[in-house]
Amino acid sequence: MTDSVQKVKHAVFLDRDGTINIEKDYLHLIDDFEFIPGVPQALKSLQDANYLLVVVTNQSGVARGYFPLETVHRIHEYMCLQLKRYHVNIDGIYLCPHHPTRGYPPYDIECDCRKGKPGMLLQAVADLGIDLSRSYMIGDKTTDIEAGVSAGCQSLLVGTGCGCGVQLPTKMKCTNCFRALPEAVEYILGKS
Ligand SMILES: [Mg+2]
Ligand SMILES: [Zn+2]
Repeated sequence: MTDSVQKVKHAVFLDRDGTINIEKDYLHLIDDFEFIPGVPQALKSLQDANYLLVVVTNQSGVARGYFPLETVHRIHEYMCLQLKRYHVNIDGIYLCPHHPTRGYPPYDIECDCRKGKPGMLLQAVADLGIDLSRSYMIGDKTTDIEAGVSAGCQSLLVGTGCGCGVQLPTKMKCTNCFRALPEAVEYILGKS
């Protein structure tokens, strides 16, 4: 009973590159961070509807030696600072720095956090008390949809970033594809 009382929060899990910001192929320079148009305003709408905002991002560039983990943290600080201008607060940021085959120790491992596995989403559920059945995942890659479906939340594909032309396996329950994040958010808010 106590458990069900605590798990009242709903969340939107957000992929980063190609969903929040323009895909730049292993983004590592703050100057290259650029919001996809309408994203900050759409995130504000979700926040106003009491959705927690949780970023879940694969950053295998760390494993591959393209940039250090510190760079990812600095980009996230910058992203959060920019979002504050729109009065948006991100409730959690989870990142996977690993790659199972391409990379250097200690990041060259078969981890549980790399999307399509649901590890980052499940960690956020444990940390923040999220009801997955009333939550959503938005991303531009098949692996985002896989992670969201595995975790048990409705998963929405966007056509920004890598989403254009992604062929989803038919067994996946993602029947919803949107031009960009703001359209996906309209869908979510229309339903709630
Ligand atoms: Mg992406
Ligand atoms: Zn990982």
